[in-house]
Amino acid sequence: MDTTTQYVFAFEDGDGKDKKLLGGKGANLCEMTQIGLNVPPGFVISTAACLEYLDEPKRALPPGLIEQVHEQMRALEQKTGKGFGDPDNPLLVSVRSGSAMSMPGMMDTILNLGLNSATLQGVIRATDDPRFGYDAYRRFIQLFGKVALGVPDEAFDKEFAAIKEAAHAKQDVDLSATDLRETCERFLKVVEDATGHPFPTDPYQQLEIAIKAVFNSWSGKRAVDYRKQFHITPDMANGTAVNVVTMVFGNRGDDSATGVAFTRNPATGENKLYGEYLVNAQGEDVVAGIRTPKPLDRLKVEMPDLADQLDELRDKLESHYREVQDFEFTIEQGQLYCLQTRNGKMNTVAMVRTSVEMEREGLITKEQALLRIAPESLEQMLFPRLDPNVKAEAVAQGLPASPGAASGIAVFDADRAEHLGKGQGLKVILVREETKPEDIHGFFASEAILTSRGGKTSHAAVVARGMGKPCVAGAEGISVDVDRREARVGLTSFKEGDVITIDGTSGKVYLGAIPTVEPDFTPELHTLLGWADEMSKLKVLANADTPDDARRARRYGAVGIGLARTERMFNDVERLPIVIEMIVAETPEARQEALDRLLPLQRQDFHDLFEVMSPHPVTIRLLDPPIHEFLPDEHVLERELSELRALAQSARGVTVLAGAMGLLHASESLRREVETARHMVDPTVVEEAIAKKEAMLKKVRALYETNPMLGHRGVRLGMTFPEIYRMQVRAILEAAAECAKSGIEVHPQIKVPQVCTVQELRKVKEYVDSIHTEVAARYGKPVRFQFGTMIEVVRACMRADSLAEEAEFFSFGTNDLTQATFSFSREDAENKFLPLYNQSGLLQDNPFDVLDVKGVGKLMQLAVEWGRAVKPDLHVGICGEHGGHPASIAFCHQAGLDYVSCSGPRVPIARLAAAHAALKSAPTPNA
Ligand code: PEP
Ligand code: MG
Repeated sequence: MDTTTQYVFAFEDGDGKDKKLLGGKGANLCEMTQIGLNVPPGFVISTAACLEYLDEPKRALPPGLIEQVHEQMRALEQKTGKGFGDPDNPLLVSVRSGSAMSMPGMMDTILNLGLNSATLQGVIRATDDPRFGYDAYRRFIQLFGKVALGVPDEAFDKEFAAIKEAAHAKQDVDLSATDLRETCERFLKVVEDATGHPFPTDPYQQLEIAIKAVFNSWSGKRAVDYRKQFHITPDMANGTAVNVVTMVFGNRGDDSATGVAFTRNPATGENKLYGEYLVNAQGEDVVAGIRTPKPLDRLKVEMPDLADQLDELRDKLESHYREVQDFEFTIEQGQLYCLQTRNGKMNTVAMVRTSVEMEREGLITKEQALLRIAPESLEQMLFPRLDPNVKAEAVAQGLPASPGAASGIAVFDADRAEHLGKGQGLKVILVREETKPEDIHGFFASEAILTSRGGKTSHAAVVARGMGKPCVAGAEGISVDVDRREARVGLTSFKEGDVITIDGTSGKVYLGAIPTVEPDFTPELHTLLGWADEMSKLKVLANADTPDDARRARRYGAVGIGLARTERMFNDVERLPIVIEMIVAETPEARQEALDRLLPLQRQDFHDLFEVMSPHPVTIRLLDPPIHEFLPDEHVLERELSELRALAQSARGVTVLAGAMGLLHASESLRREVETARHMVDPTVVEEAIAKKEAMLKKVRALYETNPMLGHRGVRLGMTFPEIYRMQVRAILEAAAECAKSGIEVHPQIKVPQVCTVQELRKVKEYVDSIHTEVAARYGKPVRFQFGTMIEVVRACMRADSLAEEAEFFSFGTNDLTQATFSFSREDAENKFLPLYNQSGLLQDNPFDVLDVKGVGKLMQLAVEWGRAVKPDLHVGICGEHGGHPASIAFCHQAGLDYVSCSGPRVPIARLAAAHAALKSAPTPNA
């Protein structure tokens, strides 16, 4: 073992860029110190030390570490002029965790370390403030007891509540020095009872135990779960660093305070310092949401000098980091300290606004403005908001902590939220007094979070914002009773299972469900996506089948339709009977008759799409699904047939009876009844119905396939029922001709699905060419169009060179191509074996979600290469679901595709992802 390894770094010396070694917080403290911010002196113990410690079965600190820590403590003593353990002038420190990736609230912090009964008296003498001294001590005993010695919080909370009750104190600040001294004594006893040992008094021993506890917290359940949930892998963060920092106190009277702030508003992005503070309090009070803090605007009134200093600090932070910072500060008797800063976690609305504004302020470039936003996160901007036309009375008002609106049933603890939300698939809203890190599983299972205490920087608010879930925090009008699973608000109440609605944008809480509407794009998002389009090489088109879809896709910035699935147009109530007639037709004439009725309807469909998308291209795919999908279900038909047969039997019986009437001496009334029955059920009508159903059943059985997705579909239909494809081609070309005639610029593209041989493509091309000539003659002008093929079967990839002879474009149908490559049914795999494959690592991702670059991607690359070898200007895109997935888009960029096409709401995500792909693959200027 190398005993000369440097594990410990003073803030003046550590490399502020080495987050892996020093953790995010430690690296930052070093960097802040080195750029001249007022940071309390301290040092960092590296993540390497943590890993060595955890690797050792006996959990021993690496050799040499303690000596280095002691050396740094001596340096701290010199810098502060205080002594660690010195009763006359004691130095106190905080011990904080900090890994390379920010994991808010997931690991542990100990404050006021170095206190014991002797140093406590020193603190009291130095500050002349016994209340302050006992308050610091009781906080230390509880935190150290909990974090380092594993004593449960409840044991302390119980004692503290008893003391508060006896003292008639509503808040902690109402407690006197004597009350707090009593608290310390009781807390020391709590620790001794729980551990069987007296509370450790030697500061160096306390420090060593604390360092080990922070290291251990890296492998604690909470941290492990968090890393799993957010896919934090060891190469992103491995081990936690330990930061040992001189304590500064925000609870040394009314000229002291503590707070957290964002350099810009993390909910809206507004360029204004945003945060909260508490006078005479410690940092944990703000973060834990125990007391409701004041907004920073108040500081301008209460401590104007410090408000100015804080503004200066904000400017320094932003101009150095060139990123919105989330920082903690403490004011100790009029002196401002910056304790920590990190890149601010913001919702996407704020990310987008700050990107655009920081670019305009010259803080960042357009490229940086784009790259700091994860494409997937734009989904948050599609959050619903409450329908403004619905008038509803809010029952409570809290802080708008994370935007968006949601309805769901109220639940009052995280386990119930998980049980009902995840387990039973119900929409739940987690309602808590305040939340703690251990509630995290409840967050995942909930639509939204509501707390009755805490500020906008409380745990609930920070976590909800990160997850993009609506959150209302600090709705103090609500009083939560966890045991009775109900909350009272004013004169009313709601219980577990009652539906409530919260609006995280306004902070309002409603009883019952309120409808929501889709949000609009912000102007900043338009600007940002405009920049994205400038940078990207891939064009983003949309998969849209209806004019409404197309309109929305256009609003989202799609520059064309890459896939219009024509089967959706057949499923309309008015058309389905004609489609069925067309399918069951026994003769070509009868089929043509039905198709003739479909033609004008389809022509109108295409006309509308062309018009909405003009002047962008619209790619229409000829009919794809197996046609039996349009026919009724076999079992339903069988049941109806047997009912009809029974009816026919009764009808026949009635007829026979009527015939026999003459022979009978039947009464007049019986004759009348039989006659009526005969009229009601006309046997010939029933027989006709039976014949029709039988014909349909025969057709259904004839078209039956065991494996329809690999069967009579796509271009195979075009081969067996050419008149269907002909009708569609005619409808496309005529619609285009009509549009052109009325001055609408159109760029129709006809694409053929499921092609596997060039002969199929040639055949369809023949129909197209002959219809095109006809239409051109009729309209007096040829319509320009493109003809191409889907590439969605493996053979099409292998025969890409010959397909390129006929096709002007290729469009990868990666849904089918994935199915075909893996031989995994796209209908079943995801509900059957794929989850197990993913969980057990047999396959890293679900290939129907994330394009399988190694298999499907390889086929695509070959097809592009071979296709372009024959036709260099071959236009190539993707229209499977992967077309909206950022990682898949990056692959499409690398593979040299021209466009991606995805569902309308994913278009903004795809636009940003396309820009990311281009920026990340662009050679760096000096490389
Ligand atoms: C595909 O297979 O990827 C495709 C776009 O077609 P569909 O999903 O309609 O089969
Ligand atoms: Mg397909």
